[in-house]
Amino acid sequence: MNGPEILVDFDPGLALFVSHERRDGPTTAVTDGASTLGHVVESLGVPLTEVGALVVDGAEVAAAHVPAAGQRVEVRAVPRPQRVRPGEAPDAPLRFLLDVHLGTLARRLRLLGVDAAYESTDIGDPALAALSAGERRVLLSRDRGLLRRRELWAGAYVYSDRPDDQLRDVLGRFAPALSPWTRCTACNGALRAARKEDVAERLHGGTRGSYDVFAECGVCHRVYWRGAHHDRLEQIVRAALTEFPPATPAPPAPRTPSSTIG
Ligand SMILES: [Zn+2]
Repeated sequence: MNGPEILVDFDPGLALFVSHERRDGPTTAVTDGASTLGHVVESLGVPLTEVGALVVDGAEVAAAHVPAAGQRVEVRAVPRPQRVRPGEAPDAPLRFLLDVHLGTLARRLRLLGVDAAYESTDIGDPALAALSAGERRVLLSRDRGLLRRRELWAGAYVYSDRPDDQLRDVLGRFAPALSPWTRCTACNGALRAARKEDVAERLHGGTRGSYDVFAECGVCHRVYWRGAHHDRLEQIVRAALTEFPPATPAPPAPRTPSSTIG
């Protein structure tokens, strides 16, 4: 390219996406004079899902800004916690969609009551992007190409390949409301309370004798009981609630003193 030269400074939090020489402060980039800043940033390796603000010569600009020669661009990382698509139904619970490589993370999010859609078969990038758009789900992926698809409603790069760190990454970034033991880890359906006698015929003999049934999935009818492996799951839930405690409700407003009668 032989166009205007600009100066680009990436937030250290974005270092993993850019080439080594761009990790330590501002470097020059040559643009074609017509491409948007969003395109320039993506072409340097950073998915726009990971970009918070784009600041040109001290003023924030939109990704559609076309940089001019000599401009100094600061590329900031998304703030944490991040508000997804501010202005759109701010109170609606966040919903996620995970790509085929993130099955363990999907089950852990569900364990915490977070709506996490996931298909164990690869439905392909176009179908995933369409699902994100159609159901307004934040697509979670480690695939930068997938995160660049324009159809996405919202997306986020998952920074680690270890499920423990992935969970902390997503909980810290989006601060979704946690409601453990309310969602089916197998299908993402909502759980409902169940009585042992109502589901007894679906339990194996050993299970029927030893454990207390407490819930059933309203969608796939899988039965949940306090039993084997429960300690490990309890541990995941406890760790999540300790590090990301539910927001404490605001104290009730002081009551206006009522007038005394008599
Ligand atoms: Zn289910």
